[in-house]
Amino acid sequence: MKGFAMMGIGHTGWIEKDRPACGPMDAICRPIALAPCTSDVHTVWAGALGDRHEMILGHEAVGEVVGVGSLVKDFKAGDKVLVPAITPDWNSLEAQGGYQMHSGGMLAGWKFSNFKDGVFGEFFHVNDADGNLALLPEGMDYASACMLSDMVPTGFHGVELADIQFGDKVVVVGIGPVGLMAVAGAAIRGASEIYAVGSRPNCVALAKEFGATHIVNYHDGDIADQVLAKTGGVDRVVIAGGDVDTFAQAVRMLKPGGKIGNVNYLGEGDYIKIPRTEWGCGMGHKAIVGGLMPGGRLRMEKLASLVTTGRIHPGKLVTHRFEGIEKVEEALMMMKDKPRDLIKPLITI
Ligand code: NDP
Ligand code: ZN
Repeated sequence: MKGFAMMGIGHTGWIEKDRPACGPMDAICRPIALAPCTSDVHTVWAGALGDRHEMILGHEAVGEVVGVGSLVKDFKAGDKVLVPAITPDWNSLEAQGGYQMHSGGMLAGWKFSNFKDGVFGEFFHVNDADGNLALLPEGMDYASACMLSDMVPTGFHGVELADIQFGDKVVVVGIGPVGLMAVAGAAIRGASEIYAVGSRPNCVALAKEFGATHIVNYHDGDIADQVLAKTGGVDRVVIAGGDVDTFAQAVRMLKPGGKIGNVNYLGEGDYIKIPRTEWGCGMGHKAIVGGLMPGGRLRMEKLASLVTTGRIHPGKLVTHRFEGIEKVEEALMMMKDKPRDLIKPLITI
């Protein structure tokens, strides 16, 4: 089969590989819809995970099951499925401890395009199919379904990590597709004011539609200064954009007792600096938590129910559409170059 792969840091290309083998608990799927991710860009061009050779890229897909292992109970060939970007080993000790995304080691629940071939191939392998796949709900469009792989669960995880409470004043740093879903999640969680940080006009418009009450443009000066001038301090910050220096800004804009939930994939920079005085000289009760999205079927089914009941509209993230698997290359390059009108491309097959 053919697949679009990382050949080494900074290099991509099409390769031929054997079709993946199916273990007793696994499924083999073919992609129906695919999306490239900013994480693919960090992986290839920043080498953020280290070098990878001839590894098929991609971790956002809607699939059709073409075969299952002998122990798989709930899925069969022909089923259309939602595929989470993170597919933990559910019988691992880490999963039993509540950190399934780190099953087998730090970040090791993230298998596609990290420890094994991803979804940008004619076929892909899903471990622990009963624990990780979810049936595509009837009538769900592929754009929404594909955004359930990663954009919705990651944006919402930022909200969970920041522990947003009713009435909180919240800043969401970054309103690319992940941050936009964090805005939607913060609104559902009952935030009273949502300060969305970004500059692309269509992202700003969608942030407002998803619940942002204020927009902060980081090109207009330090975002902490801007937020502090408007609020005097906020309760929660979700970080879904920026860089290692964003944390110092987040600590500064937070009230004592505040929480930062980071889902940004830090591709560069060796250290994160925390400003000593604004962190209460170590005693300010300002928490910083960063996490990889949890995967799994139950979570996928619950998040999908927010789409089917009309509570969230992740399909609106898709701004560019392509047809045919060979278009993943163009779509990934688009993700890398980030034209101003791009939020998320979708490839249907
Ligand atoms: P985008 O690049 O589309 O969006 C980034 C956002 O950050 C944009 O709104 C951008 O503004 C804004 N931004 C850029 N620079 C700054 C700055 N200096 N200060 C403040 N804001 C800034 O990214 P995605 O939404 O696709 O992804 C966000 C991050 O989440 C990525 O790092 C991605 O790898 C990561 N991720 C993490 C996962 C997890 O499980 N933890 C899973 C999936 C993704 P502008 O409007 O000007 O472009
Ligand atoms: Zn992704």
